[in-house]
Amino acid sequence: MSRTILVTGGGTGIGRAVAHHFADLGDEVIVTGRRTGPLKETAAGRPGIRPLVCDHTDPRALGALLAELPARIDVLVNNAGGNTDLEPGADSEGDIDGGTDGGTDGVTGGGIDGGTGLAAYARAFRANLEANLISAVLTTEAVADRLAAGGAVVHIGSIAADQGAGSYGAAKAGLASWNVDLSRTLGPRDITANVVAPGYIAETDFFRDQLTDERRERLVAASAVGRAGSPADIAGTVAFLASPAARHITGQVLNVNGGTRTTR
Ligand code: NDP
Repeated sequence: MSRTILVTGGGTGIGRAVAHHFADLGDEVIVTGRRTGPLKETAAGRPGIRPLVCDHTDPRALGALLAELPARIDVLVNNAGGNTDLEPGADSEGDIDGGTDGGTDGVTGGGIDGGTGLAAYARAFRANLEANLISAVLTTEAVADRLAAGGAVVHIGSIAADQGAGSYGAAKAGLASWNVDLSRTLGPRDITANVVAPGYIAETDFFRDQLTDERRERLVAASAVGRAGSPADIAGTVAFLASPAARHITGQVLNVNGGTRTTR
């Protein structure tokens, strides 16, 4: 039976790969994002994919999105996000780092010089919380009543939640913590809730133009497998968590990082 899948941030990178993966399985997929162009590219030539513009940090935009969504959603993929410190013109919060190789404090060096510096620091910190935590929380809350039994919520977290990267890592860690509560809320309705935490994933817009060759090499070298992850690596894991094989997996963080960070 065809399912309905909502993929936030589906216009580029990991979100696009997730959308294509589910569409290839025969599911109906809705992709969202703030820019029309990338969403149209994701949907091009694929009648099973419907693009809808939405800023997932904005409750009013989410209200408008709800009016366009079907009454039943089988799988919600909270993928929208990224490190807002990397956006052009972002307020500096300190050590701007993608957070996938650890070793950054992300807290110092921001120049907290009286009220002005602190205000910029607050804006930068809140921007990452909004983009990565509040967006997923609001989206889940907005569609919660429409999630179907047997369905799944999958958030895209990050290795940065464990390795640290200032407000970005804190936001992704908060997402994993909040997901524990969510799994308990949705569990009785036979809906699972999990986090997929990628390491360094190439071929996305995540790093903007700020990833040097040297840093890319370091990120790859830090993995056990000696290669960057791909958006397809993450899409396959998301699809597994949304499959019948994963019905007893909930409240978990599934690391997909090529062995960059191992767990026991
Ligand atoms: P991309 O920048 O390619 O994708 C992010 C997508 O999210 C964009 O399509 C963007 O579209 C959308 N988006 C961002 N903010 C919002 C918003 N407020 N409302 C709606 N859509 C939004 O990067 P990735 O594919 O790499 O990132 C996907 C996820 O994976 C992110 O959550 C990121 O933090 C996570 N991640 C990525 C890693 C990597 O190495 N690439 C590592 C670990 C985690 P638009 O601007 O049009 O809104």
